[in-house]
Amino acid sequence: MCGIVGVFGSPNAAKLTALAMFTIQHRGQESCGMAVSDGKVIRLRKKMGLVRDVFDETELESLPGEVAIGHVRYPTKGSATEFNTQPHIVETLAGPTYALASNGDIVNYDAMRRYLEEQNVYFKSDNDGEILVKYIAWKVMRQGEGIIEAIRHLMHDVKGAYSTVLCTRDSLYMFRDPHSIRPMVWGKMEDGTVVVASESCALDTLGVINRKEIPAAGIVKVSAEGIRIIQNDPLLYRESIRPKHCIFEHVYYSRPDSHHFGEDVYKVREKIGAALAKADGKLKADYVVPIPDSANFIGLGYSNHSGIPLSLGLIRNHYVGRSFTETKQAIRDENVRRKYNLLPHFFEGKSIVLIDDSIIRGTTIRKIVDLIKPSGVREVHLRIGSPEVRYGCYYGIDTPSRDELFMNKYSVDEICERTGVDSLKYLQIDDLLDCVYEKDDYCLACFNGDYPVKNNGDFV
Ligand code: AMP
Repeated sequence: MCGIVGVFGSPNAAKLTALAMFTIQHRGQESCGMAVSDGKVIRLRKKMGLVRDVFDETELESLPGEVAIGHVRYPTKGSATEFNTQPHIVETLAGPTYALASNGDIVNYDAMRRYLEEQNVYFKSDNDGEILVKYIAWKVMRQGEGIIEAIRHLMHDVKGAYSTVLCTRDSLYMFRDPHSIRPMVWGKMEDGTVVVASESCALDTLGVINRKEIPAAGIVKVSAEGIRIIQNDPLLYRESIRPKHCIFEHVYYSRPDSHHFGEDVYKVREKIGAALAKADGKLKADYVVPIPDSANFIGLGYSNHSGIPLSLGLIRNHYVGRSFTETKQAIRDENVRRKYNLLPHFFEGKSIVLIDDSIIRGTTIRKIVDLIKPSGVREVHLRIGSPEVRYGCYYGIDTPSRDELFMNKYSVDEICERTGVDSLKYLQIDDLLDCVYEKDDYCLACFNGDYPVKNNGDFV
């Protein structure tokens, strides 16, 4: 998972980009980068670490210019190293010509890379964002196409998820794959500065008015000549290609104050909670306790629907980094323990509905139940705000191999036995779809294995 930002038309482009990147830091905490053009030179900075540490005042002052793009990274394709960090650039003798940052994963990466290498295109990283910028440069510099034409061909040839920003010396381009799997929203600030970002919360922070989504297979070019929008291109936008947004963005990834895919994220989460409560009927409990922060709105929805009061019995330390991406299970276990603690004496003699948004490897839930059990709690009824995750994601989310997924290892009864919870229920797929307006427009592959974009090893 990653986040992208683009800014055009402000003398403070680098600062605005850093602020927007900071707002979507939850989408990637491993590394970050920014490319800024002053009309003549594109300057690039990227490093491992958080936005506030990498882009301090001095660093931002060394990045003059009115066009900027930024990226926060949570590795999926390519290891967590500086050279795989985005943006990626294309250099000519006159210096960098293009810089590009993207959120998503390219499914036919191997075929695309092989093909481009056969055309003597060279790569510096193993990251799929580099395919996109090298493809565009190859089409423009070697085949004489315009950038928009090159992007149209790219969207035809490259399969997968890619919400993308491209900066040239004088323009900003934004485009999104034909299935528009990852979110991407844009708009204008009051002074006319154009801003695009993965999530609308970043636009809110910058005071953007009139935000809208980049359409599926849409391209937007912003330059001194104005804004040009190309949408539903017949080459790309066929009947068979519908939006297939990632429903997990609503369940977990996105910030609750964001709006995309036609939905307010927090409202979808509240509906998920209400659906779980509805499925429980007359379950009796003293409190609903969500695992913070991702299950908070699901817990609220459950509580509002069931009438069982919500309590914040679990406290999260916000300074613990992501436990999920650690490669060693022992470190993941320890991080979860450091991340959460219980309110003293709260659980004694109580029956609780414990809510999490999802179970992947089972690390979080095992550790939290281990924490709660000795507190004297009477009953723990575990409710999960998503269906059972049984399949990997190839569109920009880091999921472990299928045999590491908790639900592929244990049945519901076995999970209850192993964790010691009194009952466990997942949200059903149909109930999840009832929480969104456009039911046909979502990718559910991690739950049902129905992948909307297949890797047929080909690229046309
Ligand atoms: P696990 O502990 O492996 O079962 O992962 C589930 C927990 O991690 C849930 O509490 C989610 O909030 C969070 N989570 C779910 N999917 C992901 C992901 N792909 N990356 C990071 N965190 C995740």
